[in-house]
Amino acid sequence: MPASRAGRCPKPRATVNAEIIAVGSELLTPQRVDTNSLYLTGELNTLGIEVVYKCVIGDDRTRLAETVRAAVERSGVVILTGGLGPTEDDVTRDAVAEALGRGLTFRQEILDGIHDLFTRMGRRMAANNLRQAYAIDGAEVLDNPRGTAPGLWLRTDHPSAVMLLPGPPKELMPMFRNHCLPRLQQLVPPLVISSRWFRCAGIGESDLDQLIAPVYTRYTNPVTTILAKPGDVEIHLRARCETLEEGERLCDEVAGPILELLGERVYSRNGDPLETAVGKLLLDAGANVAVAESCTGGHLGERITSVAGSSAWFAGGFLTYSEAMKTALLGVEPAVIATHGVVSEAVASAMAAGARDRTGATYALATTGIAGPSGGTEAVPTGTVVIGLASAEGVEARRFRFLGDRERIRGLAAQTALNLLRLRLSCPS
Ligand code: AMP
Ligand code: MG
Repeated sequence: MPASRAGRCPKPRATVNAEIIAVGSELLTPQRVDTNSLYLTGELNTLGIEVVYKCVIGDDRTRLAETVRAAVERSGVVILTGGLGPTEDDVTRDAVAEALGRGLTFRQEILDGIHDLFTRMGRRMAANNLRQAYAIDGAEVLDNPRGTAPGLWLRTDHPSAVMLLPGPPKELMPMFRNHCLPRLQQLVPPLVISSRWFRCAGIGESDLDQLIAPVYTRYTNPVTTILAKPGDVEIHLRARCETLEEGERLCDEVAGPILELLGERVYSRNGDPLETAVGKLLLDAGANVAVAESCTGGHLGERITSVAGSSAWFAGGFLTYSEAMKTALLGVEPAVIATHGVVSEAVASAMAAGARDRTGATYALATTGIAGPSGGTEAVPTGTVVIGLASAEGVEARRFRFLGDRERIRGLAAQTALNLLRLRLSCPS
């Protein structure tokens, strides 16, 4: 779960906050997702405008009007998307007019535009499209060459700008870019956003937070966000400043001590995933890797080869799920399996050594474990994974106990194996 934390000072200069209201009953079903707000947030951020509220509301005039009333009171920029269509359930225009206490007036130029569009499509305009020719009093009409619903731009008594934009992303995006961005640029104090994006492995979210919170909680600008996925924690810093230099300086001021505290746990400073970081380290070392996979079932090889150019550092792999295949393809002695069990340091080491011997790769990684949900024993419970790493210096194997479902355990096994190789490459013993 993402968590944003902010502390005491220094604050960015007076800023404008935005609020997005996505309208459409379909967005409240399991079938549709509100993607418009993600796009709009990205664009607003480029102007230094932060989104502080967003919500999804069904096609309900009363609820919508209530929300718009609250939104214009508390936010400098209010953007509505959807509900501008020609049908009875498209209520955004009416609801916003009601909320702002304004009327709706027929605008001939809108009707001409809709007629034009139908003519270009070789169709006759339906009578209900007439509804779309009504604009809220005082609004500027925003042209929509891709659809029948024009957008509307309004200023209110509060320091608010209110925008009504069509729901279809293909209509909304060019309208926002061409008509809203330039208007917003006139309205908001020019702020730029500087950011940093670090990714870490080998540390949990709470441990990481405990370690770096004393640094970032002293700043409200940049804002620090920590995002955790299994085996991977991201740290985002975002500074909003008047100049790029100031933003970069503030980001560096916070990033410096954070990076020092996290040390070798940071594997990426540009958002690249772990497999990309490992590939780069292998390439720099003129080395390559092979894999011998049991419990990860090809996931490790899949991640390594998801990086373009991986043929330069990936030799190949063995997917040896059964004991017989571990013996036949990797030369793991049946006696070793019988004595130590298939999920053991001895077997992981023999798998890694076998993969390295048979491919001639500089390094070989091996995984053997119990992803569950069944198959665990008291001695080797579900979630036990042993990872082997073979290199010119010899073979090592490490045992882990991961918690979670089958997908999580397999994901953590692949992530941990990649991280072991990364640490070996970046801090050779
Ligand atoms: P409307 O403007 O409400 O008639 O929306 C028409 C189409 O746009 C529908 O197919 C919606 O699924 C799509 N749409 C509406 N709102 C959004 C949104 N917030 N994000 C993505 N698609 C949307
Ligand atoms: Mg709709």
